[in-house]
Amino acid sequence: MVSRRSIQPLGNSVPRKRTTSPIQKVLVKIRPTWISRVAQDMARGMEVRADFEEQLERFFDLLEQSVTSGDPAWMDSILLDWAKSSTETDLEDEPYHVSFLINRMIALTIQVSREALTKQEALDLLAAVVPIYAYGLEVVARYEMETRVAHISNEMEKVQQQMKRVDKSKSAFISVAAHELKTPITLIEGYASMMEDLMRAGKGVNLDSLLAGMTTGIGRLRSIVDDMIDVSMIDNALLKLNFQPMQISQMVAALRLESKDTLQSRKLTMEIKDFEGSKQWLYVDPARVMQALKNVITNAIKYTPDGGTITIDGKTKQGFIEVTVTDTGIGISHDNQAVIFEKFGQLGRVDLHSSGKTKFKGGGPGLGLPIARGILEAHGGSIWVESPGYDEKSCPGSTFHVLIPIRTESPDAQMTKLFSSLESRTEKKNG
Ligand code: ADP
Repeated sequence: MVSRRSIQPLGNSVPRKRTTSPIQKVLVKIRPTWISRVAQDMARGMEVRADFEEQLERFFDLLEQSVTSGDPAWMDSILLDWAKSSTETDLEDEPYHVSFLINRMIALTIQVSREALTKQEALDLLAAVVPIYAYGLEVVARYEMETRVAHISNEMEKVQQQMKRVDKSKSAFISVAAHELKTPITLIEGYASMMEDLMRAGKGVNLDSLLAGMTTGIGRLRSIVDDMIDVSMIDNALLKLNFQPMQISQMVAALRLESKDTLQSRKLTMEIKDFEGSKQWLYVDPARVMQALKNVITNAIKYTPDGGTITIDGKTKQGFIEVTVTDTGIGISHDNQAVIFEKFGQLGRVDLHSSGKTKFKGGGPGLGLPIARGILEAHGGSIWVESPGYDEKSCPGSTFHVLIPIRTESPDAQMTKLFSSLESRTEKKNG
């Protein structure tokens, strides 16, 4: 019950006085038994008990002092020391620690008096000490209650601050979302009104390019809305993974094919290394892992000036495959490395928000990396970044590390069957 940390070091102990009155004699008589009984009852472990016994000596001194002087306030210093150390350390778990201790002391005093004293001595002793214990209970209860109230209001303040932050992030989200959604809507409106004008003019015009523009705008709208839905699914742990066997090399190759035009127009080189584990069949949700890798690769494209290089490499690492995406881009400051995986980590930079997905430094709603992290964590993996810092002139670059667990079995038995046939087919092909 009594732990080492809940006991303060021996303080200014009261010098023992020569006992003269009968009640003091009684106190002296029960002292050793009382101390060892209370110590045995309350403190587990020899080391703690020795420490506690010292405390009990001090308590008993003060009890004697209070009885002799008739002033229970002598007990204040030790009671407050105990209450303070107990509430400071045990606020969460053991409530009313010292009150419990005093209650046990009362019970043990009665027990020891019965065993060691005559009836009259016992009655006299109890008449003298019970009011002091009662006083002690009151002091401690008041102190413990006050400390708890202070602790609770402190906690409430923290919650309130958290709510304020959530509120702020909510309104920031609305402003960024509105900004992000506005651009494609304006684009679609523009195309629609041009189409309307041309159709009204009644000339046999070709609407293909206008329709293509509208489709681009709608696609952009959809991807922003999809990102928002994904973030809310991740936040509410609703992301469902559809495990299927897949090789990382396949996913990366598909992503390179998707970015081919952008890479060409921005004169970027994408190097894909044939690393250990890249051809291993893994159970992942391929669509989701592709989405995570795509977000990282799109960023590498976005934050690397024209003519730069993006390298995709990796290695196996104790049950995981670690994929690295290294770019020769503007890099990320140490402060930002800590926040970019948080939702709207880049909200401060509303100036960066534009709808150019792959344009150099074309910002987005700041959801790409939080989504990537949510997907990878749902798989049991993780993601982090390393960068010497942010510098648009020297372009120190960044390396994103994506850790994917090597899962060779699916919860679904049929999938495992499919996996083994795929594996044997690949082995035949390779061997
Ligand atoms: P956004 O939609 O803003 O791109 P992300 O979550 O994908 O949102 O990225 C958050 C921020 O992290 C970006 O705005 C950018 O400042 C920074 N960032 C991400 N990847 C890179 C990178 N490869 N190089 C430099 N900065 C990056």
